[in-house]
Amino acid sequence: MLTLITNAEVFAPERLGRCDVLIAGARVAAVAASVPLQGDPLEVVDAGGRWLLPGFVDALTHPCGGGGEGGFANRTPELEAADFVRAGVTTPVGALGTDALARSLEVLYGKVMELRERGLSACMLCGSYRLPPVTLTGDVARDLVFIEPVIGVGEVAIADHRSSQPAATELRRLAAEVHLGGTLSGKRGTVLVHVGEGDAGLALLEEALRDSDLPRRVFYPTHVNRSSRLLDQAIEYARQGGFADITVATTPEFIAGGEVPPLEALSRAMEVGAPAERLTLSSDAGGSLPLYRDGELVGLQAASPAVLLDLLQTAIREEAGLVDGAVAALTRNPAEAYGLTGKGRVAAGCDADLLLLDPRSGDLIDVFGGGRRLMRSGEIVS
Ligand code: ZN
Repeated sequence: MLTLITNAEVFAPERLGRCDVLIAGARVAAVAASVPLQGDPLEVVDAGGRWLLPGFVDALTHPCGGGGEGGFANRTPELEAADFVRAGVTTPVGALGTDALARSLEVLYGKVMELRERGLSACMLCGSYRLPPVTLTGDVARDLVFIEPVIGVGEVAIADHRSSQPAATELRRLAAEVHLGGTLSGKRGTVLVHVGEGDAGLALLEEALRDSDLPRRVFYPTHVNRSSRLLDQAIEYARQGGFADITVATTPEFIAGGEVPPLEALSRAMEVGAPAERLTLSSDAGGSLPLYRDGELVGLQAASPAVLLDLLQTAIREEAGLVDGAVAALTRNPAEAYGLTGKGRVAAGCDADLLLLDPRSGDLIDVFGGGRRLMRSGEIVS
């Protein structure tokens, strides 16, 4: 089956101008100013000047729910494939999070495979906040080698009262195992690191990397907009060659407490010359947004993947200069961070994970996942 999208303003994620995009099966076959109308059967979609973007790569999601920090009643519910499709996310990366006791990697694996059957390129991380990490096979390197959807471990917590209070040596050893498993399986092998409110910030990562032979990008810190101080550390981390992930889901209470709003964080990082290609934006969807006061949990909400599309729409309306940076941070950059070849870009040979959206409102019109229609004219295709 061939699908030809004509007259699209293509973000590859760099702007290519008005192009045609030919989809052959699950892949993009051609991107050019004009692709001839040939092939049988051929569906032609006239984009009419709409924007065509790579599907979002969401570096941190909790598709089988998260939370539980305030007791069992605070567990957040599972996410459905449609939640991701409506948000433009075609590659959600799933993780357990705080709770690897009442939730399991087996359940996460099942959910990831369900999302795949529904057209999403879902991946997963073994482990959780805790060390030693939970695994499917008994060993993180074995998980990477033998469990195809596993692309790393995480989110391992540091600088957080809910973490295992790991030592730098433990983190270094874990990263070495992940790096080896990745090397053997042809994956990047990444440790996604949840950075909490603790004063140490990224200091433990710097200590773990010191005197090691590991590449800096093996540690991928998330929630780096939690405070101005942490954001500054993360900008330096990116300058040194690492990737840094800004969490888009937030609450007015978090911002009042010093969290940097995601667009502002992106803008600040770019203003001070952080390498834009190593900044990413993730939703933390399905995770809880706990609110603590004096160490006591006083409330909880669940994050949604919709925050990513909302952020892009806000940039379109209010911060046009940030649109290109935001698109790259939602697509190519997280794909690079995890080494997901063929994701996050619009180019011949890449996976046909594509979004068509209205250039004025940012409303999502069509979504393709691996060449399959997941949304048509704003409606989910089931
Ligand atoms: Zn986290």
